[in-house]
Formats: sequence, C-alpha cells, structure tokens
Amino acid sequence: MKTLFEKIAAREIPAVIVYEDDFVIAFRDINPQAPTHIVIVPKKPVPRMAEAEAEDQALLGHLLLKAAAVAEETGLAKTGYRLVINNGPDGGETVPHLHCHILGGRHMQWPPG
Ligand code: AMP
Repeated sequence: MKTLFEKIAAREIPAVIVYEDDFVIAFRDINPQAPTHIVIVPKKPVPRMAEAEAEDQALLGHLLLKAAAVAEETGLAKTGYRLVINNGPDGGETVPHLHCHILGGRHMQWPPG
C-alpha cells in the first residue's frame, strides 16, 4: 500500500509541488507552521530515519542538498531557515514516510516544543 507521500508523488492526492526530481519531491505543507513550510520527501518510502540504511546514504545526502536548494529558491536563504526531521512518537512523527520539513519566514525559537 502506498504511503500518503507516495500518493502525492503519484498525483493521486493534490499538493502544491515546488520541486521534483527522480529521487525526491517537495511540496507545501497542508498545515503550515511558518510563513514558508515545505516538506521534502525521498520517493523511496523509507519509514523514518531510524530505518534508513547504509544503502540510503546518497539518497539522504541528496535530500539535504535539495532541501537547501529549495530553501534558496523560495527566498529563505538570506534570513535563514530550519530543517526538521521528526522520528517516532516522541519526535512528533505523524506520517511514516521519511521527510524533512523546511521552515522559514519567521524567527524560530529554541528549544523546540
Ligand atoms: P510529521 O508530523 O513530521 O510526520 O510531518 C507530517 C507533515 O505532513 C505535517 O506537517 C502535515 O501537516 C503534513 N501533511 C499531511 N498531509 C498532507 C498533505 N496531504 N499535503 C501536504 N502536507 C501534508
């Protein structure tokens, strides 16, 4: 069965897609937590970081480099942004398909809630 994010990549569920290549897809979060909130997802349905494997090394590097490129292209690079990967229940993960949040357009607090 496809994950929610696989369905978005397959255009079975609508989303505002801002970047896509053979390995990752990025789209606007449906419930934004900042003026700019984009989710970037590997097309391979790795459930979460804890289940990523050595063979995913290049994919994970690509995901982060493209997260930075999407942040640049959406105008966040000058003022800064935050990348977040939630892992498991205490991490706040709600969709079991690895993804990186790109948050920007406001000053972020630390520590995170
Ligand atoms: P997480 O809580 O880290 O697992 O993040 C999952 C994210 O996916 C949340 O920020 C949701 O708002 C977002 N999300 C859930 N469904 C959709 C959807 N159909 N389109 C875009 N973003 C979604």
